[in-house]
Amino acid sequence: MKFNTKTIHGGQKPDAAYGSVMPPIYQTSTYAQTTPGGHNGYEYSRSANPTRTALENALASIENGHFGLAFGSGLAAIDAVIKLLEPGDEVISTNDLYGGTYRLFTSIFEKFGIKFNFIGMANASNIENYITNKTKLIWVETPTNPMMNIIDIKTTAKIANEHNILLAVDNTFATPYLQQPLDLGADIVMHSVTKYLGGHSDLVMGALIVKEKALADKLYFIQNASGAVCGPQDSFLALRGIKTLHVRMQRHCENGKIVASYLASHPKIENVYWPGFESHPNHNIAKAQMRDFGGMVSFTTKGNNYEEAIKIVEQLKVFTLAESLGGVESLAGHPASMTHASIPKEEREKTGVVDSLIRLSVGIEDEADLINDLKQAIG
Ligand SMILES: *Cc1c(COP(=O)(O)O)cnc(C)c1O
Repeated sequence: MKFNTKTIHGGQKPDAAYGSVMPPIYQTSTYAQTTPGGHNGYEYSRSANPTRTALENALASIENGHFGLAFGSGLAAIDAVIKLLEPGDEVISTNDLYGGTYRLFTSIFEKFGIKFNFIGMANASNIENYITNKTKLIWVETPTNPMMNIIDIKTTAKIANEHNILLAVDNTFATPYLQQPLDLGADIVMHSVTKYLGGHSDLVMGALIVKEKALADKLYFIQNASGAVCGPQDSFLALRGIKTLHVRMQRHCENGKIVASYLASHPKIENVYWPGFESHPNHNIAKAQMRDFGGMVSFTTKGNNYEEAIKIVEQLKVFTLAESLGGVESLAGHPASMTHASIPKEEREKTGVVDSLIRLSVGIEDEADLINDLKQAIG
């Protein structure tokens, strides 16, 4: 099956009871047994729920994995991966990382004796400098948030493999429409389903997808034991979202390119961060591992003025000033005062999050309305 068919049919079959084409929302916590232990594979909805199973099968299919696990949020999914580790183990992670992931690693897991190295991975061979015999996991986000750095998944997987280290890739920004990390050698793909997979800004959810059964069994054990599962209603919504992922992503990419090009030609704009530009430092890697360049675009204004950036995001009308990304509607964010406000100025500026940086999640509205909106807001 090709990708555009998998999003609609992958892992799915009509429901056994009445042939409903979409799986019913099995809004139940428990299942009747004929004799103790006599059930049809479902006994309690933390362990498994048929609507969640339908979603998990779809997730496995679109990422070319064999096993999917759906969680109550993206962070719950990441939490489950780190629980594979033991005190004393080390993790090598991207330094330009989703803020919530950084907080989970440093504020929760460091105190349990897990050590995290946050490093630049623009040149993947840099990873080798940080590998010790305690390194058990490499955590990669690509493209990164909000600087749109690109990390070479294939080379990273080769390094991880040579040292017997697990490689997990946060594929939230790219989605499997653009890149499929398991095919490039990663062991675990993670998603904030909240974003592009759900696609409609109406749910919070996370996912893990793997190929290997032994790894899937360990993660399933953690999912069931720790209990951060998602409910059947949200599973249904996510499944519905995934069915249009390919058409939405195609338009996100088209509009992303138009917006990035417009900003690049604007006299008041200093830098535009988008992997589709030939001037992007890892454009060639992006071209090799991604099908297209996505709908996430960040930019700074000339003079790098904090107040001017705030004014721009306040004046936008089609773009909504809000956290999150990946929905059909265009969103704008100001990292220095929103997602990265808790990071000291000198720290955030090291990775490029300067005062005037604005991040856009370009939606699938009419391109003319998006450009006109930017025009009136930037002036
Ligand atoms: C949003 C996000 C997360 C966290 O997911 P939640 O669903 O908000 O818990 C992790 N990684 C990336 C890249 C994200 O954008």
